[in-house]
Amino acid sequence: MKIFLHSFLILTLSFSLLGLFTGCGSKFHHQKFYVFGTLVEVSLWGVSEQKASEAINVITQDFQTMHRHWHAWQPSPLTELNQAIAAGEAHTIQEPSLLLLLKKAKRFYNQSDGLFNPTIGQLIGLWGFHNEDLTSHRSLPSSEKIAELVTLSPGMDDIEIEDNRISSRNPAVQFDFGAFAKGYAVDLAVKKLRELGIQNAIVNAGGNLKAMGKKGDKPWLIGIRHPSGKGVLAAVALNEEESVITSGNYERFFEYEGVRYSHIIDPRKGKPVRGLTSVTVINRSGALADAASTALTVAGLQDWHRIARQMNIKYVMLVDEKGTIYMNPTMEMRVQLPAHEKSKVVISEPL
Ligand code: AMP
Ligand code: MG
Repeated sequence: MKIFLHSFLILTLSFSLLGLFTGCGSKFHHQKFYVFGTLVEVSLWGVSEQKASEAINVITQDFQTMHRHWHAWQPSPLTELNQAIAAGEAHTIQEPSLLLLLKKAKRFYNQSDGLFNPTIGQLIGLWGFHNEDLTSHRSLPSSEKIAELVTLSPGMDDIEIEDNRISSRNPAVQFDFGAFAKGYAVDLAVKKLRELGIQNAIVNAGGNLKAMGKKGDKPWLIGIRHPSGKGVLAAVALNEEESVITSGNYERFFEYEGVRYSHIIDPRKGKPVRGLTSVTVINRSGALADAASTALTVAGLQDWHRIARQMNIKYVMLVDEKGTIYMNPTMEMRVQLPAHEKSKVVISEPL
């Protein structure tokens, strides 16, 4: 998990467990469940126990449904679409959320110059990432196969969307929405919580986090995990409705002959990205922040600024393999870094 609630929040949890809020009932509710191959945490503030438990049940079911609908390699409406495309056939989508994902994906693909490319499912599978368990991975794909898939060059430009009928000019297109599905999922979860009458919440799907409202009279304060896996890289207070999304090479990877291969693939080279260990984006839209965190990881130190501007992103923090932290000035104004990290910060031009 890349982002977790700051100790501040955990303290609040212990206070409520100690009954400090007796009289009006416990105000803080926190529940975890496992879906999307990741831990999802829902934190609610200022609702009754019963309302919290009903809302968390609804959210749990919603996540399970999204997982079933969007799964990239187990049989799902998405794999049905992929099979039709591979066979050169048009396909009518019955699942409305897939259509919304496709339309968003087209926009983010264009804005990122194709660095966010959710049609490279074949490459992701080739590198062995269509698997829950990466520990048993023991070989690398052949350079011929990689070159072949890069040359076929699948992209969102190959896709035609007419109402809910999808066709592709390129049978090498294979959708994998892993780069922004969780960000979109937390958008939908927060929207649903609002519809259920909840005003203050955080939904965190394995480091893809969205907050709404506040925790009492204070903003939600969250910690961004250090890419080394040790402690907190930075803390940030969140505005009324905001997402904080981190892409990290430590999230899903395998090691082969002492080299780490991360799950984020550069579509131009067909290979896992090197260079950045963590990229955090803050934006109101979780889907956009998630697509951007992946795209900026691919863009690397040379190009992240240009791509962030094209994607209309205002807050970015990147960490490279040496542990140097790069931020744009408005991001720097928002985050609190531990003293020992401050010496390693480079501030970019404004976005
Ligand atoms: P994230 O953790 O949000 O950066 O998403 C990483 C996931 O997105 C991977 O596990 C793949 O399923 C998928 N992915 C990898 N590289 C790309 C890419 N360049 N564009 C879109 N999706 C990608
Ligand atoms: Mg992402």
